[in-house]
Amino acid sequence: MNLHDAETLSAELRGRGFSLADGPEDADVVVVFTCSVREKPEEKVFSRLGRLARIKKKKPGMIVAVAGCMAERLGPAVFDRAPCVDAVAGPGSLDRLCDFIENPVAGGRAVFTGFVGAAAVSPVARRASGDGSHSAFVSAMTGCGKFCSYCIVPYVRGPERSRPAREVAAQAHARAGGGAREVTLLGQSISAYGRDIGGNLRDLLRAVCMVPGLDRVRFLTSHPADFDPGILPLFGEFGNLCPHLQMPAQSGSDGVLRRMNRGYTASGYRKTVERARDEVPGMEITSDFIVGFPGETDADFRMTLDLIEWAGFRNVFAFKYVPRPGTAAAALVDDVPPEVKQERLAELLAVARGTGRRRNSEAVGKTFRVMVEGPDSRREASVTGRTMGNHIVAFGGGFRPGETVEVRIESASDLTLFGEAV
Ligand code: SAH
Ligand code: SF4
Repeated sequence: MNLHDAETLSAELRGRGFSLADGPEDADVVVVFTCSVREKPEEKVFSRLGRLARIKKKKPGMIVAVAGCMAERLGPAVFDRAPCVDAVAGPGSLDRLCDFIENPVAGGRAVFTGFVGAAAVSPVARRASGDGSHSAFVSAMTGCGKFCSYCIVPYVRGPERSRPAREVAAQAHARAGGGAREVTLLGQSISAYGRDIGGNLRDLLRAVCMVPGLDRVRFLTSHPADFDPGILPLFGEFGNLCPHLQMPAQSGSDGVLRRMNRGYTASGYRKTVERARDEVPGMEITSDFIVGFPGETDADFRMTLDLIEWAGFRNVFAFKYVPRPGTAAAALVDDVPPEVKQERLAELLAVARGTGRRRNSEAVGKTFRVMVEGPDSRREASVTGRTMGNHIVAFGGGFRPGETVEVRIESASDLTLFGEAV
């Protein structure tokens, strides 16, 4: 989502006559995009701003802006800790930030936050033409209305707002015209797409899959509570709809899930996984987990490990719980000691490495259609790309980003498959 916002801002400013600098030393304007989901990334932003302050000392005219969720959360408080900052703009205020950058108030500071009256997608995002890259993000909805008890997103990205399917498809069409071969539709809980405007995800996926020139259509993130099995037949119908669900479980314990306000049980999650895999050959499911949520016992944590083993995820993202100000869970006692959170995280990741390795080794000997992403940073004369199911594959050859190549898998590590073009 942040990458999408940053691309959008950069495209808009290029349209207004700016060009991309090589780095902050050469830039007249630096915009730092920020995340508020956990605390650590916020601290990193302040240390980055400290470095920018030193550059700005030598170039007093440089504009420094902080954009994204942390800007929304802290507003003018950002200036207290980082006096070098000229403007603070939340996710609903990219338009106003672009205007400020174009016509800065000399010596003045600006704070742009809030969502009152904000459209689902801002005019700058609606116009975003991209940079000719083979892979494009297109926003299908913004905000989130789920209010999971640990999560700050509904507060910093505002209420759930869907964008009309024809508008999403039109932008996907424009991006395909500009060279994109792959489109990823974005929404914090895309399974809820359309509820506010009388639409649904099925119709949206259909409209985007029919856009000429798109070899791949992806969508993020599926919420287990409102997953619509009605989308499953579409994977057979449209050869460009990637059989991959990023569907975070967060925990394998019903008690924890209830306190997280997730709206499903562990067995409900398993049923959805089973159904998706039964109905869609090659369906890959990946997940997020939080360890050390308030009240999580060792028994609760074992249920999470059981779920990971059972599902055999190829990839999971896992995080230690941190209370976020203003969320419902911040009122609960954060009672799992830091060292226990650390141990549980390490154990979870070890189990997930095992399931990932198992899943990757099943791919050895098989042939996949791989879309090339770019040069392999670790091996010379190699490229990396992704399968339809989102496996990462490294293979030899001078292929260009966006090309689709048949690759036979010869070996596998925990996270990467290695093969040869056939
Ligand atoms: N909309 C997506 C992702 C939201 S944030 C979804 O619903 O899945 C990405 C991930 O950050 C979440 O899935 C969760 O695992 C993690 N996360 C969110 N808030 C957190 C918190 N307070 N502490 C630790 N991890 C958190
Ligand atoms: Fe946060 Fe839950 Fe919304 Fe995801 S669905 S963004 S975890 S509130």
